[in-house]
Amino acid sequence: MNHDRSHALFSRAQQLLPGGVNSPVRAFKSVGGEPFFVQRADGPYLFDVDGNRYIDYVGSWGPMIVGHNHPAVREAVQQAIADGLSYGAPCAAEVTMAETITRLVPSCEMVRMVNSGTEATLSAIRLARGATGRQRIVKFEGCYHGHGDSFLVKAGSGMLTLGVPTSPGVPAGLSELTATLSYNDFEGATRLFDEIGSEIAAVIIEPVVGNANCIPPREGYLRHLRELCTKHGALLIFDEVMTGFRVALGGAQAHYGITPDLTTFGKIIGGGMPVGAYGGRRELMQQIAPAGPIYQAGTLSGNPVAMAAGLAMLELIQAPGFHERLSAATVRLCEGLEAAAREVGVAVTTNQVGAMFGLFFTDQKVETYAQATACDTAAFNRFFHGMLERGVFLAPSAYEAGFVSSAHDDAVVEATLAAAREAFRDLAG
Ligand code: PLP
Repeated sequence: MNHDRSHALFSRAQQLLPGGVNSPVRAFKSVGGEPFFVQRADGPYLFDVDGNRYIDYVGSWGPMIVGHNHPAVREAVQQAIADGLSYGAPCAAEVTMAETITRLVPSCEMVRMVNSGTEATLSAIRLARGATGRQRIVKFEGCYHGHGDSFLVKAGSGMLTLGVPTSPGVPAGLSELTATLSYNDFEGATRLFDEIGSEIAAVIIEPVVGNANCIPPREGYLRHLRELCTKHGALLIFDEVMTGFRVALGGAQAHYGITPDLTTFGKIIGGGMPVGAYGGRRELMQQIAPAGPIYQAGTLSGNPVAMAAGLAMLELIQAPGFHERLSAATVRLCEGLEAAAREVGVAVTTNQVGAMFGLFFTDQKVETYAQATACDTAAFNRFFHGMLERGVFLAPSAYEAGFVSSAHDDAVVEATLAAAREAFRDLAG
């Protein structure tokens, strides 16, 4: 593959953008090499500026569940654009969006639209703190909730309850209010609540972890958290920015049958435009300004073009059997990847929930963050590049979930597996 134009663009970008990118993982730092620059995207494919085509399993990090450049989404945006780009006053599409989200995710009796997943999670914990009058929040190792200060925190060594910042610039005084638990550890959660349960405003969790590769919850784990929160008067927040409308039409909460107090969304509800949202029980949401005293606002929130894109996508995914077909394609992909690796003696396991999947270079079924981080990342990095050379774009990090879209038909999955057989063979040989 020729990458001359991408290389030239990356050289220019590095002079002007930190690391040459506007979001860190795009820079290929963990897999090595240089990113390609995209010219256009269509269906399951990305096309780079050098004319190379890639089958895309990143899907803009989740939104593109109907494939890129879907005509229905594109036409909805074109129509909206004809009426202006932003109003700064209410419009009908915001009401339709709120009706759609609350219908598809019944735990959300009311919603507030924002502009990104990060804004949604930041706003949700402010609401949780304001509504409970408590300050501490609890998150899980390996879960990502955007780049808000309170979330850039890891467990402090030795102490169960004091979080330590993972980024310079995060005040220790704030990170100390974030306790970090091991995902899928029942006892750790019980112990923490026994110790400081009455101080916890909220537990925030990715109900299926998609930011430490892909790790589903153990049987009963989400229920355990639900019960602890209820018992101790803390709110349970499902961060469904990634899982929402993807692992099932009603998100992970529908898939696992657990009702959170608040839910955060992003990605799919924007159809590829910058959008987030948070929602929950009416009496909680009524505490948000201007209905209540907890402040949160946004110049572009509920933007008419973004609402049009999101509504068109939400319409498409309500087609009967949509998620079942997507899930079946993802299972086929995962089983094919495991078989291809097995044929040449490479140890690989996969995790899959709906149209989210993870590929692990290990012979173990991965259920914890510690297991995910113990996998052979060097092997993943070689496999990533082996696939890229063969025209398949996996997430450029061993710690990201993969995404399948409805444009990934049998032929596309088969082409992916053909590339994987060769890439695994290279790895074995
Ligand atoms: N929450 C989860 C689960 C995410 O995966 C992400 C982003 O990948 C976010 C929050 C932050 O969303 P955004 O990048 O739109 O700010």
